[in-house]
Amino acid sequence: MSVLVLAEVDNGVLSPATARIVNAASKLGPVDLFVPGPRAAAEAAASLAGVAKVMVSANSLLADSLVATLSELAVLYPYMVASASSVGKDVMPRLAAKLDIQPVTDIVAIEGKNRFVRPIYAGNALETLVDDQPRHVLTFRASAFAPAASGNTAPVEVLENTVQSAAKLIAAHRTESDIPDLATAQIVVGGGVSVGSVEGFQLIEKLGKILGAAIGATRAAVDADYAPNDWQVGQTGKIIAPDLYIAIGISGALQHLAGIQGARKIIAINSDPEAPILRIADVALIGDLFEIVPQLTAELERL
Ligand code: FAD
Repeated sequence: MSVLVLAEVDNGVLSPATARIVNAASKLGPVDLFVPGPRAAAEAAASLAGVAKVMVSANSLLADSLVATLSELAVLYPYMVASASSVGKDVMPRLAAKLDIQPVTDIVAIEGKNRFVRPIYAGNALETLVDDQPRHVLTFRASAFAPAASGNTAPVEVLENTVQSAAKLIAAHRTESDIPDLATAQIVVGGGVSVGSVEGFQLIEKLGKILGAAIGATRAAVDADYAPNDWQVGQTGKIIAPDLYIAIGISGALQHLAGIQGARKIIAINSDPEAPILRIADVALIGDLFEIVPQLTAELERL
């Protein structure tokens, strides 16, 4: 019972999410990885524990050619797995449609060979379901699983004749940043609309930098243009599961909580002692963020 995992490559580098998906998928059987190039990313993928074989595409592939290539490989595998990321959400439903399989998405726990747990109702409930189909198309939330160890030396096979894309990549616009990836960061510092401005968010970013944290934001902060769209955490943003989430000036609306339920510890900084986020916070600092955050940052700088 082998599993084919679609690896993710970002700017030529294997995404950290892939190690988490491999670790999760290895509970279902030996893992073969498909890496949509380049060779260096495939070599990195071959070092992950649990990987039996790496297949790397000789050409870079867009979603349509990825789907076509995976559907050709699918005959050999009872499980086709990817991260529940923007790539996985793009590719896997198309693959499932092509294979006439109902996909099971957003899995956060594996309870058996066909028994999976996933959040529903914007994270307010967990559903355990049995996937009775003979073959499975699955996406896993990377943040819910630990990464696979490295040290493996799996063989790497180059696939020369992958299906060519009908689409053409015209340009890719990237935001360069040394801030960790939100989806897999161990610490996330999040700011709400009460941070008040782009300049206000620099306070959040400064604290985040000292902690080596990723930066998140509420939708209200993003809508106000205080923070970029890709920082949004929640039902319509990113789902995070850090060891520590510091929620600064965030009320704790249900749609925001949907994105942070995997956080192991939450510190909330809020001027309102009745704010809903305080009901789930492990530590609450009641007061003005514009006083507390600079003080906290200065104390941490001194360490
Ligand atoms: P507010 O709710 O206005 O809270 C501000 C908080 O800051 C308050 O608790 C206040 O006490 C505190 N505060 C004010 N001044 C200070 C100060 N000086 N110091 C300290 N604390 C202070 N939201 C998301 O975040 N993510 C989503 O993905 C998302 N998806 C949505 C999807 C739908 C369909 C809908 C309808 C809404 C969605 N929302 C989402 C919006 C969500 O409902 C809330 O409006 C939003 O999360 C509130 O953001 P906030 O906490 O920044 O603002």
